[in-house]
Amino acid sequence: QLHNTIQDLKGNIRVFCRVRPPINNELDDKELCAISFPNETSLDIRKSRESVCAISGRVGDVKQEFSFDKVFSPEASQVEIFEELAQLVQSALDGYHVCVFAYGQTGSGKTHTMQGTPNDRGMIPRTIDLIFEKIEKLKITEWSYTVTASFLEIYNENIRDLLEPNSNYDYELRYNEGRGVTVTNLKSVPIDSARMLKALMEEANNNRAVATTDFNKHSSRSHAVTKIHLEGHNNLSRASYSGSINLVDLAGSESAKTSAAERLNETKHINKSLSTLGNVMLALHNKDSHVPYRNSKLTFLLQSCLGGNSKTLMIVNIAPFEDCFGESISSLRFAAKVK
Ligand code: ADP
Ligand code: MG
Repeated sequence: QLHNTIQDLKGNIRVFCRVRPPINNELDDKELCAISFPNETSLDIRKSRESVCAISGRVGDVKQEFSFDKVFSPEASQVEIFEELAQLVQSALDGYHVCVFAYGQTGSGKTHTMQGTPNDRGMIPRTIDLIFEKIEKLKITEWSYTVTASFLEIYNENIRDLLEPNSNYDYELRYNEGRGVTVTNLKSVPIDSARMLKALMEEANNNRAVATTDFNKHSSRSHAVTKIHLEGHNNLSRASYSGSINLVDLAGSESAKTSAAERLNETKHINKSLSTLGNVMLALHNKDSHVPYRNSKLTFLLQSCLGGNSKTLMIVNIAPFEDCFGESISSLRFAAKVK
């Protein structure tokens, strides 16, 4: 049976943690935290390596333990992480709304996890390939699929269409009983192959960079959303249903404390969407009657993909360095809270 009606016993929110390795010459001028992985669902972290060796035994440098649905050490490959994600692609084909978030401070590996590089492809290109691989196989059954995609970013609580970067349209969120939340004027492209979808993904990535003066700053302060909509039709029974997979490279979570006063407005917006996202996930986790979706553009946009008939995966990315320790702890706490 294709449409999965069995309750997922694990619940609909899962949280992974991924610690990235140091790269290039980062170790020349940075100290590592002491992070260990007692098993595949937990991680222990201490600020300094010295205290582990009991040389200095720094006061207050205690070991903190966190556990998640899955923990990935710096050696973990994109393939290993995608293995865990592959079942979510199947869920989206089965009519679920799936959301995958990459959370973490700037430089922690969010974009590497989601986008990756041509030689070490991340979750988005792998998801695209798997969708079309599965659709291709289903063609011999009575099921056929139509795929549409859109790419957007949210910056300062404003939506920008990454396929139409220079347009003057208004992009407003609308709630529609049948279709859920839609974005007015957003370009949504019918897709017939993995190749076409990956070409659009490249275009969206390029557009994201082009219109900004300082790409790194911009990308660390905006949320990038890849939306892939899947519509399944049964040619015999005429049944149809729709699912989606939304892959979100979130703004850097550090913005809260480390930004200058002039960026306050920006920071306020980023905090609003990240803290609202946390509050929404927490409310869902606690089965609260009120879920504050409308408190930020991001959560309003993803309303139908969070809670209800949906599956959510949060990947919390951690940079392994001592000077990131404070941010790492706040990311780990954020993630532990919504789990
Ligand atoms: P973020 O998007 O969170 O700001 P990036 O994904 O840009 O962070 O990662 C920062 C740097 O670390 C990049 O140069 C990236 O290629 C590299 N990097 C991140 N994660 C890994 C990893 N798992 N393996 C190898 N390099 C990584
Ligand atoms: Mg990034």
